[in-house]
Amino acid sequence: MVRHQHPEGSHQYELAEWLAGHHHHVVCMECGEVEDVHLDEDQERTLRALAAAVAKGARYRIGGHVLEVEGVCRRCGA
Ligand SMILES: [Zn+2]
Ligand SMILES: [Zn+2]
Repeated sequence: MVRHQHPEGSHQYELAEWLAGHHHHVVCMECGEVEDVHLDEDQERTLRALAAAVAKGARYRIGGHVLEVEGVCRRCGA
């Protein structure tokens, strides 16, 4: 598991999410840049079902979810 920089900390991330509306993240493993991404309805439905199954497995009541995809950004990949 690669640890990436979260300069603002996860709590502020959740607050930003709440303010900015529902979205997900792509994170560059090289420079730590985080971009917001929006999923289409089908993808979101799939993800919601997965998140619900994960929560159920952990015996948690489902709240929200955030998907974070790690990769290499356009700048670092060039
Ligand atoms: Zn990068
Ligand atoms: Zn979502």
